[in-house]
Amino acid sequence: MTARTQLTITDLGYRNTVVKTETREILLAFWKVHILHHASEEPIHGQWITAELRRHGYEISPGTLYPLLNRMARYGWLACRKNSGGARARKDYRLTTAGRKVLALVREQLEELHDEVVSEAKAKK
Ligand SMILES: [Zn+2]
Repeated sequence: MTARTQLTITDLGYRNTVVKTETREILLAFWKVHILHHASEEPIHGQWITAELRRHGYEISPGTLYPLLNRMARYGWLACRKNSGGARARKDYRLTTAGRKVLALVREQLEELHDEVVSEAKAKK
């Protein structure tokens, strides 16, 4: 994601509480795409995702993130494993075969969406 895109989303999210509420619906989908993408690269855990999303300009609370991860696990997209290696037990999530299929489909849809909503819209300006 480019710095310019981050700024736009951050502006929308934090400057106007009405817009913030409405964009939340959309952000939930963006966050799921981020999680699918990163879980495809390596096992990830809640704190890591929170930090990664913050790096992208998003603030996600534990009360939003953990139910989201649980839903994605329930759909069969993520497999969850307790990691008791550290002092505190944490859950690691990795992408399942079904999750990989969802990610592949989402990537195609994102590309098509980007072409229309971003590229074509820019060309018309
Ligand atoms: Zn990311």
